Amino acid sequence: MPVASVLFFVFGLLVGSFLNVCIYRLPRRESLNWPGSHCTSCDRPLSWYENIPLVSWLVLRGRCRTCHTPISPAYPIIEALTGLVFLAAFDLYALTPLLAVRLLFACSMIVLFVIDLQHRILPNVITVPGVVVGLAASLWLPPGWLSSSLGLLLGGGSLFLIGEVYYRTRGVEGMGMGDVKMLAMIGAFLGWKAVLVTLILSSFSGALVGIGLIALSRGGMRLALPFGTFLSLGALAAMLVGEPLVRWYSGFFVP
Ligand SMILES: [Zn+2]
Repeated sequence: MPVASVLFFVFGLLVGSFLNVCIYRLPRRESLNWPGSHCTSCDRPLSWYENIPLVSWLVLRGRCRTCHTPISPAYPIIEALTGLVFLAAFDLYALTPLLAVRLLFACSMIVLFVIDLQHRILPNVITVPGVVVGLAASLWLPPGWLSSSLGLLLGGGSLFLIGEVYYRTRGVEGMGMGDVKMLAMIGAFLGWKAVLVTLILSSFSGALVGIGLIALSRGGMRLALPFGTFLSLGALAAMLVGEPLVRWYSGFFVP
């Protein structure tokens, strides 16, 4: 139903607008519901028409109406991304309880993606309740409690081990505990198979981007993007296209 899809996309845009608030305020330890939206530069409260996802940014041409400070294009991009993820998830799960759980998960991944990119942290306030909610939801819904518990252990355990090995051999912190908790959360929500898909996708894309950045900076800089950003993209891909991806991949081996 195209009308329902459009409504869901718009719903996603509105949620994306709220995710922007979380992304800005969570790392700064500000309240999510007070004060209302305001310009982060001149503090002027925003009127309703400056708060419309995507549209306001375009109409204002990316600047505050009074102080003319540029507004980051990250805001409309995150709104559009959330809208598209909502559209894809609606298409995949239809109106089911699983849709609600998976959307909650996807929103957490989007928030973690940007916060890790901007601040290099993965706040416990998202990952720790995430593990609990993912496991609890799996008591009734896919992937089921067994796959969820295995995913939790595999996700947390594998990154913890990689971090330990890295630390023992190189003497530097290779993997933060934030990444460990984040992959445990991914496993709790999506199950152990998705943990493997997420790990493969995020390591592969991380390596590609890393090589690209090293090539661009002619090997001089040690430009490490935070791993949580790749985990988040990998998990969203695992959730939305994981199964066809695994089928396509195993097609190479099964005649
Ligand atoms: Zn302003």
